Amino acid sequence: MFDIHTHNKLLIHNPNAIVNCNADDDFSPHPLFSLGFHPWDVDAMWESGFEKIEQSLLHIESKGLLSKLAAIGEIGLDKNRGGSMQAQTDCFRRMLGLADRYAKPVILHCVKAVDEILLILNEENFSLPVVFHGFRGKPEQARQLLNKGFYLSFGPKFNDESIKLAYEAKRMFLETDDSRVGIEDVYELAGKALSISPTDISVPGIFTS
Ligand SMILES: [Zn+2]
Repeated sequence: MFDIHTHNKLLIHNPNAIVNCNADDDFSPHPLFSLGFHPWDVDAMWESGFEKIEQSLLHIESKGLLSKLAAIGEIGLDKNRGGSMQAQTDCFRRMLGLADRYAKPVILHCVKAVDEILLILNEENFSLPVVFHGFRGKPEQARQLLNKGFYLSFGPKFNDESIKLAYEAKRMFLETDDSRVGIEDVYELAGKALSISPTDISVPGIFTS
C-alpha cells in the first residue's frame, strides 16, 4: 500500500509513503519525500522561500539524495487560501521550473483553479507527470484531466465515479494527506468503490525509479 502524499512525520522511515517536507527538514532519513512550496505559504515575500528551496535542492543533490526526492510538491494554486493569485501563480511557475530542472513529477494542490493550472502547465510546456492530489471532483472533471494524461490521487473522501475512471485509466493514486486515517483505511474505501480487494489495488510506478 503506497501513500503518495502525507504530512505525517511518523512515516519518515516508511518506504511506501512520500512524506511532504519543508526546505529546512533533514532529508537523510527519508526513503521517499517531496519538497515544494505550498500555495498556502505563498506571501509577498515568497521569493526568499523559493531561494531556500532551491538551496535545499542543491544540498539534496550534493548529498546524493536526489533519488529519494519522489516529487516536487505540493505546489499549485488555491483560490480560497494563501497569497494573492499573482504571487501564487509566479511561485507556481518557478516551482514547475524546478521540477523540470530535476526531472521530477509534481504533486498538485488545486482549489478552484483547474483552468488556471491547465493554462500554466500548457504555457510552461510542462511534460513530466502531474498528479492532482486530494481529488474530490466530479466525474466530468476527472474525465477532463485523465483525458489530458494527468494522474489523480484520492484521500478518504472522493467521488466513487471519479475514482473508478482514474483506476480504469491506470492513473489513480491513494493518499492520507493531513487526515488522521491510515493508508490502509483509504485502500479499504477505494476497494469498496472499485469493487476489488484492497490488496489487489495497483498504482502506477511514476515515483520510484
Ligand atoms: Zn498536503
